[in-house]
This record gives sequence, structure tokens and C-alpha cells, in this order.
Amino acid sequence: MEPIKDQTIIRNFSIIAHIDHGKSTLADRLLELTGTVSAREMTPQYLDKMDLERERGITIKAQTVSLAYQALDGKNYRLNLIDTPGHMDFSYEVSRSLAACEGALLVVDATQGIEAQTLANLDLALENKLKIIPVINKIDLLQANPQRVKEEIELLLGVDSAEIMEVSAKSGTNVHTVLEAIVKRIPAPSGKKDNPLSALIFDSWYDTYQGVIVLIRVFEGKIFPGMRIKLFASNNEYEVNHLGIFSPAAKDTEALNTGEVGFIIAGIKNLRDIQVGDTITDASQPTTKPFPGFQELKPMVFCGVYPSYPEQYNPLREALEKLRLNDSSFTFEPENSVALGFGFHCGFLGLLHKEIIQERLEREFNLDLVSTAPNVVYNVTTLKGDVVKIESPDQLPPPQEIAHIAEPYILASIPTPVRYLGEILKLCEEKRGMQRDLKYLSPEKVVLKYEIPLNEVVWDFNDRLKSLSRGYASFDYEFLDFRNSSMVKLDLLLNGSKIDALSLLVPKEKAYYIGKGLVEKIRKIIPRHLFEVIIQAAIGSKVIARDSIPPLRKNVTAKCYGGDITRKRKLLEKQKEGKKRMKQVGKISIPQEAFLSILKVS
Ligand code: GDP
Ligand code: MG
Repeated sequence: MEPIKDQTIIRNFSIIAHIDHGKSTLADRLLELTGTVSAREMTPQYLDKMDLERERGITIKAQTVSLAYQALDGKNYRLNLIDTPGHMDFSYEVSRSLAACEGALLVVDATQGIEAQTLANLDLALENKLKIIPVINKIDLLQANPQRVKEEIELLLGVDSAEIMEVSAKSGTNVHTVLEAIVKRIPAPSGKKDNPLSALIFDSWYDTYQGVIVLIRVFEGKIFPGMRIKLFASNNEYEVNHLGIFSPAAKDTEALNTGEVGFIIAGIKNLRDIQVGDTITDASQPTTKPFPGFQELKPMVFCGVYPSYPEQYNPLREALEKLRLNDSSFTFEPENSVALGFGFHCGFLGLLHKEIIQERLEREFNLDLVSTAPNVVYNVTTLKGDVVKIESPDQLPPPQEIAHIAEPYILASIPTPVRYLGEILKLCEEKRGMQRDLKYLSPEKVVLKYEIPLNEVVWDFNDRLKSLSRGYASFDYEFLDFRNSSMVKLDLLLNGSKIDALSLLVPKEKAYYIGKGLVEKIRKIIPRHLFEVIIQAAIGSKVIARDSIPPLRKNVTAKCYGGDITRKRKLLEKQKEGKKRMKQVGKISIPQEAFLSILKVS
């Protein structure tokens, strides 16, 4: 493949959308229409490679693909489609992918209208000064209401309705007009090709054969094999072995010129040496200014991950190491819990990130895991003036040494039909939220902005939002800052022994109510034993809630005698299943559910 000499034929763009609004399907059609992937090779959601991505309909690993397109003006264009991860946990990566583009297609479902992720992604795109092309999708559906969605978009973007495209990504209707709009409305890259190299890293991953593959956008100058490059943030130097583009298979080229998007391979062994958002430059003739907006990724949500069987400890460690090769944004450290034995304390960017990693561990590595309820990171200032990061309640210094505790706050965007507004306001207030904005998108739809402690969102915010709005309200967030709060450590005791994996940090004013709820919940989850089980919630040595489970009186299996054999077998199978998910703590069996039950206290 030839590197591109005329940068006026390049268009770099992303597709942004709320989940299920048709981003992947539209990408499929663009790949097909440009002949990048033939109809025969096409599978739905072509760019989603992982099973998990297709099943859950989310993009975990972004893909980038170069399309060759001959426009109606007769010129041959190179369209670089830069995919973005589809979830708020990855908003920094999304913002770096968008920074690599000049424009974005904003896809909105004609039956749903604007949703939370639409707004969050749009904010990021506007921060990066991208040209937005609004696309209303799914116009083939009977219940589609493109007119209403048009009005929402007009209000939100202040664009003329003539600029809004209406397509069906599924049937292909009008998709060719989207290709023309990309060429006509999105500007060509503007960097200077004679300047020293300046390229932005917007993604990277580990390949068993090639080592680390780095996706870049060249802003100025050019990069070619044999060049010695320097990374700004890490200050490391490498030599470029080879580079190229994806179309969709990797194809080597002689260089990546100004405006181009592609991959480089430079003998980088460890994914941790590469940071998304870092700038690559020529080591012998470096540019003076790195590309702005670099941040180090920091996990915000933590939990313990334990094998259900002790013999799976080593396989779990190996699996974590393997996954970490490909995702440097999660962390893990060995941890030992009285209740759960040996396991790992893991850090994630957010809740979905945690779920994905856990699911991959179970599926790809065939592990049986128990995880503790997630908690957020806290900044604790001691009376001596030190600031310590607390990643689990057990790390909290003794209360008499603490000056104050600061917790992370987020800014939540919640679009909702007006009829659920009252309930949602109540929920946000209960979650210690502070309203920052309330804006009508139409007489039926409103967008709420709330500042809420991340801790409150980690619990059951999304579930409750969905259920009280029957799925109509959606929610997305960005991280704001750390703020002082009065938090206390709540412990749970079973027959007088503290279950460390069930301790949690809670706001002082809610401690009593959470303690009571937790005791009630645990009471329902723990099976009856041959002895009485006493459940207590305590702050320090002060018990704030108590309940007990009476001992078993009757032999339950007695019921089965004389019964039919299949039923008995079923019961045995069920018991085996149940046993698998039990943790033995002293003499008490605790089902896995118990460790997550605190999430459901409300
Ligand atoms: P993504 O989450 O934004 O990537 O959405 P997908 O492309 O995976 O689409 C979500 C669902 O909507 C899938 O079941 C698609 O088949 C369906 N879909 C996408 N575009 C259209 C369309 O234009 N019309 C109809 N009827 N369904 C569509
Ligand atoms: Mg998708």
C-alpha cells in the first residue's frame, strides 16, 4: 500500500451513539458499500471481534478500519473509521479516539431519540471540536418517529433539519448519502507535513506474535520504518519496525503521513510502556509540544476477586496476568480475607469494566469466582497530614488517626421522559446528589445533570433508575473530583466473628439504615444451620442492628424418601450447585450472593 501524499483526500471520523442505536450495523454497511468487506464475508457487527462484545452488544476493544471510497465528485478518498469503546467507564479512551478525528456521525435511533450515552459522547466530540453529522437510524421500523427525533437533535445541536440524515443501517436505505456527507462536510486533516513528527496514541494492544501494536493518528510530519521515536509521557525511545493500516486486515505501508491513521510496531514488549493519549515524536528532531489532554488512567472501583476453590488460586493469578497483558487499566494485588481465603484485590475503571473482566475470567479461563461488593477509592487525610488512598474498607486507619475522608464525585447526565422526573429527582436526592442542571429537550423529554458521589452509583443506582422509569431513563457520567464526606466503617458479624469481606464504608447519616437493611438481607440469604446464627451490624464496637436465624429442627431430606428417583436426583444436583457457590466461614456456610447483597440494600 502507498502512503497518502495528498492529505486533502483523507477523512477521519468516528461513529458515536447510545448502545443499540445501530453504530455497529452502520459500520457494517459502510464496510460493505466501500467494498472493504464483501457481502460474502460480512457478519453482523463485523468490527466486534470478541464473543462477549457481540453478546452484550458493546464494544470493548475499539477497532479502526480504512475505507477506500470513490465519491460522486470522481475523486478517490481514504475514510478512516475510528471506533470507540461503547461505555462511560472508558470515556478517556473515547475522548482520545475522538481527538484522532475531524468529524463524527451521531447516530440516534428513530424510535428512542436522544439517550444518555448520546449526550456524553456528544460532549466529548464537541470538546474535541469535531464536525458532527447527525444520522437518524432505523427509519424502516413501524414505530419510528424521525420527526420527533429531528426536533430533539435540532434543539440539542442547533443545526438545521436539512443537515440531519435519515437512514436504515439494517436495510441500507440512504447509507450512501452518509458516505457523501462524510466527504463533503468533514474537513480534511490540516497538519503540516514538513514539521517534526507529532502523533497521538489512541489505542494499543498486545499481540502474541508481534508484541505491542500501537494505533496512532499522525498530526504533523511523518513516521516510517527504521525511524527512532520518542514517547513524551514515558520518555521511552523505540525504533519503528513496521507500520501500516487496517482495511480491515493489517497491510504494511512505507510510511504514515500527516493526517493518516494506522498502526506501528516498534519492538515494545509490555503494554504498560504505552499510554493512551501519549504523543510520539521523532527522537532526533522532537516536536516541542505534546498533544494536549494526556491523562494517566486510574482505577476508580475496587473489589476482591476470590476463587471458589482454593486450588484455583494459581490459575486465577495466571489468568489475571494474561488479561493484564491486554488491558493495562486494571490492577490486581494478592489479598487475604478471613472469610474468603486467598484472592486478589482488583481495581477497575468502573462497574462495567469490572463485570467484563470478571466475565472474561470465568469464561475464557474456566474459573469459578466469588467477588466482594465493589467500593470506590477514598482519599484519607490523617491527623499527621498524610494523604492515603484507601481501596478497601480494611485499609482504613483507626478512626482516632483520621482527619477527614474524601470521596470521588461524578457528574451524571440523565435524560428521561418528563413523566418519571419526580421519581428520579427523589432517587438522586436519596443518593446524596446535588442538582446542577435541568433542561427540556422537548415537551416530553428532559435532561437532568446531577453531582453524585460515585459510591452511591456503584450500589444500585442504575438498576433503580431503570426500574422506576421502566427502562426509559438512561444514565451516563464523568468523573468530577474528590470531596470531603463523613464516612464510617460498617462491619458485619456472624456469631460474633467479623466477616471482613462484608465490611463497607458508608455515609454516617445512612449507617443505621444500611446496617439494618444488610442484616435483614443476609438473614434471608444464609441457610439454616444445625445451630442458631446471630447476625449483627456494628460500627466499631457498637452494634447497630441484630437478627438471628433459628436452628434447623427437621431433617429436610426425609421428605424425599419414597419419592421418585428423578426428583431425588434433581434435588441432589441442585444441592451440588448450591454447595459450589457456598463459602465456609468457620462453621457457617455463606452463599456467594451474600457478598453482593449489600448492593441491593435500599
Ligand atoms: P450498537 O450497539 O450501536 O452497535 O447497535 P447495533 O448495530 O449492534 O444494533 C443494535 C440492534 O439494532 C441490532 O439488533 C441491529 O440489528 C438493530 N438495528 C440496527 N440498525 C437498524 C435499522 O436500521 N433498522 C432496524 N430495524 N434495526 C436496526
Ligand atoms: Mg456495537
